[in-house]
Amino acid sequence: HAETALGQAQTSGKHHLYFDSALNAEVADKLVLEEELRQALETRQFAVHLQPKVSLRDGAIVSAEALLRWNHPTRGLVSPASFIPLAEDTGLIVPIGEWVLRTVCAQEADWLKQGLRTVPVGVNLSAVQFRETRVLELVQDALATVGLAPGYLELELTESLIMQDPAEAVRILNALRALGVRLSMDDFGTGYSSLAQLKRFPFDALKIDRAFIIDIVHNPEDAAIASAIITMARRLGLTVVAEGVETVEQLCELRAAGCDEMQGYLFSRPVPLEEFAAMLRAGKRLPLPPMPHRG
Ligand code: C2E
Ligand code: MG
Ligand code: MG
Ligand code: MG
Repeated sequence: HAETALGQAQTSGKHHLYFDSALNAEVADKLVLEEELRQALETRQFAVHLQPKVSLRDGAIVSAEALLRWNHPTRGLVSPASFIPLAEDTGLIVPIGEWVLRTVCAQEADWLKQGLRTVPVGVNLSAVQFRETRVLELVQDALATVGLAPGYLELELTESLIMQDPAEAVRILNALRALGVRLSMDDFGTGYSSLAQLKRFPFDALKIDRAFIIDIVHNPEDAAIASAIITMARRLGLTVVAEGVETVEQLCELRAAGCDEMQGYLFSRPVPLEEFAAMLRAGKRLPLPPMPHRG
């Protein structure tokens, strides 16, 4: 009996100790990452990659999305999924997001000066940036500093961002839209907003989240959801973009449902800026399979 009790006490003691140190390790890890994130901006460890969006009418590159990459000195390439949440918690997303915006504007202006026929580029905006900065003034300044026409800039915003304070979001988005900046609803379908609520906001495009695209070929429910989103969004006058398209079968399904554009590994991963410019120069296109006849 005594032995058993002692064993249990030891086990639970160890368990407690283990749990504690695991928690401490996690907190310490976060602190290290936060400090590294702070230094990453100053020491130029960030890069912007661009992923093309292509038209499902003719396969041409019609725009792109800017995706942040962190080239960490020892950890290698760190995924935004793992550091954006921390950047948001610590407020570091504000200067990092501003850097992305200014980098994209400067690159676009530079390409235009070189005579490259570039396309609009979408920049992701975090809810924290939207809350804590004067987004309108920031965007105006980023464009004016490099003399870029607003139509070359697109902002990607999520449902949760606009739903935090819808009245304020409507006001700011209307001002951005009036400026000539394009607006995209990002990751549609993952939040709580409905298409009916969306009509209050001046979006140009709606991006269907990858979650509905993954199984679109084999799961009739996902196909029905995607198809319903496409039909309603188009009737609201929105350009519909499918995220995360990886196969020709997905592409065919989406095109049959009336989707306008796609973005995904099927055409290209996010690539460094120069590689994107090379794609534009080469006039790279997605070969579209012939549309089957209906009947
Ligand atoms: P997002 O805005 O929805 O970006 C699309 C994500 O899907 C990107 O992941 C992209 O690389 C990935 N993707 C594109 N096509 C495919 C595909 O065919 N298959 C698969 N499996 N994935 C595909 P990434 O680059 O890891 O970025 C993740 C998220 O991090 C973004 O989701 C966005 O929410 C955030 N993020 C990235 N850059 C920025 C930034 O500059 N600012 C802010 N605030 N957030 C950013
Ligand atoms: Mg996005
Ligand atoms: Mg997205
Ligand atoms: Mg997404």
